Amino acid sequence: MADVIVVGGGLTGGTLSCALAEKGLEVILIDQVDPHTPMISDGRSFALSRSSYNIFSKLGMWPDQATPIKKIHTSDGLLPQWMEYHEDDVKGGPLGYVVDSALLKSKILEKVLSSKNICIQAPASVIRLERKETYALIETDRGEVLKAPLCIAADGKFSTLRTWAQIPLIEWSYNQIAIVCNMVHTLPHNNQAFEHFLSSGPLAFVPRPGKESGLVWSIEREKADVLMTLSEQEFAEEIQALFGSSLGTFTLSSPRKSFPLNVCLPKRLVDSRLALVGDAAHIFHPVAGQGLNVGLRDVAALAEVLTDAYALGLDLGSPSVLNRYQKWRRMDIFFMTLLTDGMVRIFSNQSRTLAHVRSIGFGLTKHLTPLKHFMIRHAMGVTGKAPYLAREDDCGTHAP
Ligand SMILES: Cc1cc2nc3c(=O)[nH]c(=O)nc-3n(C[C@H](O)[C@H](O)[C@H](O)COP(=O)(O)OP(=O)(O)OC[C@H]3O[C@@H](n4cnc5c(N)ncnc54)[C@H](O)[C@@H]3O)c2cc1C
Repeated sequence: MADVIVVGGGLTGGTLSCALAEKGLEVILIDQVDPHTPMISDGRSFALSRSSYNIFSKLGMWPDQATPIKKIHTSDGLLPQWMEYHEDDVKGGPLGYVVDSALLKSKILEKVLSSKNICIQAPASVIRLERKETYALIETDRGEVLKAPLCIAADGKFSTLRTWAQIPLIEWSYNQIAIVCNMVHTLPHNNQAFEHFLSSGPLAFVPRPGKESGLVWSIEREKADVLMTLSEQEFAEEIQALFGSSLGTFTLSSPRKSFPLNVCLPKRLVDSRLALVGDAAHIFHPVAGQGLNVGLRDVAALAEVLTDAYALGLDLGSPSVLNRYQKWRRMDIFFMTLLTDGMVRIFSNQSRTLAHVRSIGFGLTKHLTPLKHFMIRHAMGVTGKAPYLAREDDCGTHAP
């Protein structure tokens, strides 16, 4: 019997497995995908917060090719309002980093494959979950029957384990699709990210190496369907017309990918001998680029709760251990859902009243330095009681 079974070896499941294995726990990691399959980018460039940097650095998984974000420029598509956040607004390093999804996944897998305490079961799908009084049992489609005191669902937004545990969900859809791709431009980005709040949805650019930026454009489903059928040149012209010339002339440098956008919050993060992390535990709009950052803070909190319990010889799947995790993570998840949902509703709107609200919001945040600093620090994931792995201490200086 292992100490934990992690179902889902994606970004959060892989990182959690490494964090637990490093502390001596025996981990079984199950994923549908063979970890030796060549990595293909899903087009996303993740904006990672300082808390995510701290977690990856402390686990020795930080990819050196990450691009630091030194400035964020936000603007309103309808009003002549804009606001800038500088790295000088915060102590000790950039506002965040941008990492290609495939690069990050390879870095995590490299560590997973080299860890002697992780037993990988892949490619394998889970076909049965049973919870007994003292352990959880998982059966895979390869015929293995695996047991541990705790099973962790890191199996993404359509989590099978969460469905089998019948955890009720709070869900709504935005009727929006995120179109994602990379674009090269003739002018340098100078490590600047842009968020342009258009009435049809937010359009964001995050800096990548060289004169390249990652685009995330969240837009009504019907318009997105049309945009996906445009030629590369027509699409680039569309972006140019909306974004203007601050980055020079755009050319598409990767295929376009699309992602439907919704909110999905399970009413509980834990159940009998089961804990949820990452997208299995929360889905929200990518307007603030926070889904993975929050998921990694789940990982850091659960790793700390479990390693504390392990050191004390406690039952890792007991209600007291799992409730400590749930209590710790609830506020951060709730706050981020409210923040991202509020941003989408207030900005993706042509109402004059909401334009007035936005104008007041921009003015307040611009002139109230403590409010601006609080918002930056929350997005960086360094407010509240952070778990050890996510904290600023002991992870060296920030990459330039
Ligand atoms: C357009 C877009 C842009 C985004 N940008 C950002 C950003 O800039 N910053 C940020 O922080 N977040 C961002 N996010 C959110 C981020 O992508 C997710 O939060 C993150 O990928 C979740 O990782 P995960 O490991 O929890 O889930 P996943 O990456 O979905 O991994 C789930 C894993 O479980 C495995 N699996 C699933 N079912 C089974 C099964 N039955 N048996 C075995 N294995 C199984 C899968 O193979 C997979 O490996 C963005 C999201 C979108 C849609």
